[in-house]
Amino acid sequence: MFIGHFAVAFAAKKAAPVVSLGTLFLAAQLADLVWPVLVLLGIEAVAVSPGITAFTPLDFVSYPYSHSLVALLGWALVFTLGYGLTRRPGNAAMVTVAALVLSHWVLDVVTHRPDVPVFIGGPRVGLSLWNSIPGTVIVEGLLLAAGVWIYCRSTRAIDRSGTISLWTLVGFLIIVYVANIFGPLPPSGTAVAWTALSMWLLVAWGYWVDRHRRPR
Ligand SMILES: [Zn+2]
Repeated sequence: MFIGHFAVAFAAKKAAPVVSLGTLFLAAQLADLVWPVLVLLGIEAVAVSPGITAFTPLDFVSYPYSHSLVALLGWALVFTLGYGLTRRPGNAAMVTVAALVLSHWVLDVVTHRPDVPVFIGGPRVGLSLWNSIPGTVIVEGLLLAAGVWIYCRSTRAIDRSGTISLWTLVGFLIIVYVANIFGPLPPSGTAVAWTALSMWLLVAWGYWVDRHRRPR
């Protein structure tokens, strides 16, 4: 899943208004932010196999340290404790952040073919929503619409940047999503990992949006 992770982060603002959208993005996408680093270090592996699913040609050969349930429990603990100790945001915020880190596993299990590990050594599970392009687009599209709607109702822009930064971000997410569906095949797993590193920019974008909006 791609924009669905951002969707739940947008929606989480309602549960934890003190947490910046950037931090919510970081939590919901922690698995996919760590993953390209591990692939480039040779610790995890991804390959390009056209036709492996209808939606994406990516074959997630091995990604137990970024994407297994047990690893994400560990990441959730470390991330939430780190955030809690540095920002002291309160219990609701910490629970929300931890739940977002774990939500990544749940949403990836829904979309991926059975390649998402439970433990480091497996078993690997997945409900294969990616076998249907319309199904994937409908589910992720509805999630994004709902998430952005909840975020808009939970915050208000305090200046023009608060509106512009939000809607350019939403537009950018949609363009990248569509480009991924119709774009050319990535040349290699390494190229995929380098491109995926750019996801960190979206975290920075989230902080920028949130600095120009206030909880209602
Ligand atoms: Zn993922």
